[in-house]
Amino acid sequence: MSVSQLKSFLDCEAAELAKLKSDWEPDSDKKPLLVGNYVHSYFESTEAHKVFKAENKDKMFSSKKPHGLLKDFQIAEQMIARLKGEPAFQQIYQGEKEVILTGELFGVEWKGKIDCLNLENGYFVDIKTTKDIHEKKYDEYWGPQSNFIERYGYLIQMAVYRELLEQQYDKQFVPFIAAVSKQTPSDVALITLDESKMQSELSRVEQMIDHVQRVKMGEEAPEWCGTCDYCRAHKKITGFTNMNDL
Ligand SMILES: [Zn+2]
Repeated sequence: MSVSQLKSFLDCEAAELAKLKSDWEPDSDKKPLLVGNYVHSYFESTEAHKVFKAENKDKMFSSKKPHGLLKDFQIAEQMIARLKGEPAFQQIYQGEKEVILTGELFGVEWKGKIDCLNLENGYFVDIKTTKDIHEKKYDEYWGPQSNFIERYGYLIQMAVYRELLEQQYDKQFVPFIAAVSKQTPSDVALITLDESKMQSELSRVEQMIDHVQRVKMGEEAPEWCGTCDYCRAHKKITGFTNMNDL
């Protein structure tokens, strides 16, 4: 199990199962992911950034202007410069980069990757690129005023990774998020996480993990979220919908 797979199951079990069984391919815009990876590879190593740029050359440059870096990647460059120019970020982003984590939690084998692990001082950092660090939005689970950390499941990710780290090294770790926004100019922040929210997210994972495993094994039927691309394309009208349920 990976945190991203679990997050996809939380979004829509039916869609994620169809994706796992290769029955359905989401038609998603991969550009935000590429921009995030562009920024990540820079802070991993010079070599990793060079490899990333070589592998994704065709997606990063305009087909009309052969030497024109697309707007999104110009912003990615600006995001890198913004983070790089922050002494506080430079000071904290010290340690081993892109550390692979494995371990067992709630009876399931997990695999994850941490952007930066500082073993000696007992903390880890994940870089998150986001539209707007301060944006509050409605979320079905978190309610009307949720922030990007809650909405994107970063609490689950950091809480699970911390558990795996503490098992592996038998010491305590503090998670930090180094956030940089896709605005111009970019906003930056070093973010600490709410301990009680992390604990309740871990309990949520514990409660749902058996069900998720059984859905993956085909032993239980997946739940349909009813609104995602997959659900919209595959649902059948089985009765009337009352306007108050919309
Ligand atoms: Zn759905």
